[in-house]
Amino acid sequence: MSVFDHAEFDNHEHVAFYHDEASGLSAIIAVHNTHFGPALGGCRMWPYINSTEALTDVLRLSKGMTYKAAMANIALGGGKSVIIGDPRRQKTPEMMEAMGKFVDSLGGKYFTAEDSGIAVTDLKSMAKHSEYIAGVDAQYHYAGETPDGNPAPSTAYGVFVGVKASVEHGLNRSLEGVTVAIQGMGHVGYRLAQHLRNAGAKLFVADIYPEGVEKAVKELGATAVAPEDILSLDVDVLAPCALGSAINDQTLPLIKAKVIAGAANNQLAREEIGDLLVERGILYAPDYVINAGGIIDIYHQRMGASSNNALKTHIEEIGATLKLIYQRAEQENCATSRVANAMAEERFSNKG
Ligand code: NAD
Repeated sequence: MSVFDHAEFDNHEHVAFYHDEASGLSAIIAVHNTHFGPALGGCRMWPYINSTEALTDVLRLSKGMTYKAAMANIALGGGKSVIIGDPRRQKTPEMMEAMGKFVDSLGGKYFTAEDSGIAVTDLKSMAKHSEYIAGVDAQYHYAGETPDGNPAPSTAYGVFVGVKASVEHGLNRSLEGVTVAIQGMGHVGYRLAQHLRNAGAKLFVADIYPEGVEKAVKELGATAVAPEDILSLDVDVLAPCALGSAINDQTLPLIKAKVIAGAANNQLAREEIGDLLVERGILYAPDYVINAGGIIDIYHQRMGASSNNALKTHIEEIGATLKLIYQRAEQENCATSRVANAMAEERFSNKG
């Protein structure tokens, strides 16, 4: 199938395919839009069944990055790269170095960072051959934490700011005493729990693995909940911080929270779920707006001289952006997810 006829093709500016026989690398880079600046988007390594599946993913994800960058007020465009292969079995330093050469061959039109299957060490291998590698020097971290380049602390802080703004708008109150159910105690979910606990929220947490949950119970006074019960808990806020599609046709009728605000990408299983949330009176924080802290961190890494304060202030804009979306959604009686898309399109189209 031609790229131009592909269902996910959306006027992408540049799609490049690369194969390196020596290391076994097969990869695709898609640059969706560079109206605001060079495209940024992580590199994902995944055991795609075939190159068609990989192409579908890279076209879809790179488009999403344009929307995310536009709503995060950063001078970057959207792009993404995918490597075909199982990161646990097939990834080698040589393959990562070859990926660095591939990224470099686009001459700065695209720069990459972490995504599923790619760690900071892999990016460091890529960086041997290209200056267009980000995500190896994260700016924001907590006292006692060693920054390793992973942007999760910034993502978590942005989600926290977003939960606060959503609770202010939707429930007209501060976070003191608010009950929050967090699905997923991973890199972002656990740090979000720390922020919320410090702000006086009452936490309910779940994960399919016990470590993060046990730590949250012990250190943050959280209540452990079974993974199958977390979405239907009678709480003020639901924060999906695990995998995508948490809000779907099966889970939607069970949700009792009045606010959904969490880190996970692609939380709505399909677009129309956004409309159904409006009908149910549930305020939804569009995922790519609330989870933009990581990309904002990476942007500041590229700025070099940017201070921790400038980064923090920038991440805090997520709250104001969400409130703008909520106000417009009310005025237009429209789903917040649709309003976010419309606002992003207005922003990057006007620049074109
Ligand atoms: P992570 O892998 O560290 O954490 C996810 C956690 O969710 C894991 O502990 C996993 O065991 C748990 N989980 C999986 N399925 C579950 C289920 N059914 N019920 C309960 N728990 C479950 O990932 P992360 O870096 O914390 O990211 C979390 C989400 O946020 C992902 O969707 C990711 O794409 C998104 N996100 C992350 C970043 C970032 O900076 N890390 C940035 C933007 C978006």
